[in-house]
Amino acid sequence: MEQTRLMLENLGLGQAAITLDAQLDHAGRNEITYLEFLNRLLMDESDFRRKRSEETRLKLSRLPMKKTLDEFDFKFQPGIDERQIRELATLSFVHRQENLVLLGPPGVGKSHIAISLAVEAIHQGLSVYFVSMDRLLDDLRRADNEGRLYRRWKVYQRPGLLVIDEIGYSQLDRAAGNLLFQLVCARYEKGSMILTSNKGFGEWGELMGDVPLATAILDRLLHHAHVVNIRGQSYRMKTRMKSGFNIVPPSDSAGSANGMVNY
Ligand code: ADP
Ligand code: MG
Repeated sequence: MEQTRLMLENLGLGQAAITLDAQLDHAGRNEITYLEFLNRLLMDESDFRRKRSEETRLKLSRLPMKKTLDEFDFKFQPGIDERQIRELATLSFVHRQENLVLLGPPGVGKSHIAISLAVEAIHQGLSVYFVSMDRLLDDLRRADNEGRLYRRWKVYQRPGLLVIDEIGYSQLDRAAGNLLFQLVCARYEKGSMILTSNKGFGEWGELMGDVPLATAILDRLLHHAHVVNIRGQSYRMKTRMKSGFNIVPPSDSAGSANGMVNY
């Protein structure tokens, strides 16, 4: 028994070594076949590894929190086509290296949906990285100053799915716009991206202070992309409405229609 356990450990099957005792006991009590016993033992190892790999990818993804679509109240946001979001949650668009852009005013659930899809991608075995536009720029600028841009760049280029949250909250300068352009180019038709923005595409030129650059970014970004434009009320206001605050509805700055953009 000890020798078998030790061999399992030496072969890197640590979990099977741990459950060997219990599986032998189960086999004895249930009179299962040799094959079934072996299958159950290997399943222990394989389940353990899948779970550990998922946990590691979740940690590496830097998701700010865990959200799921089951927690999303589609009735509160009737402007969203639930079927479209459920279809996106199959992640076939990620496997096709397409992009998703979520547009809309603050609080309508852009980050919630982006995070939910990211969690699903991690569950499906994909590598994911989540970053806000501000943090992305800070990080790349610092890396550049410290002469390690190349290494840092890979963090954003490599993952099967890159989520860039909150584009449009801060004004971008020329250098920032250029970095975004290079990133979009590097991932173009190679890796999927989910972007969220409170600014409609028509405002991206002003956001970057450079209309041709914004046009070039959008041209690649939207070549194979799904756009979800959420026009509803802020969910954050919901609880405040209940407590009797006077709310001015958020203005809808995102100007393009929902659906698949392909031009
Ligand atoms: P946005 O990114 O569009 O500004 P968030 O996704 O951060 O908005 O949503 C703000 C908060 O409200 C989050 O805690 C989010 O989970 C929650 N939320 C937004 N919309 C919904 C919804 N339809 N159902 C449930 N929770 C929601
Ligand atoms: Mg957000």
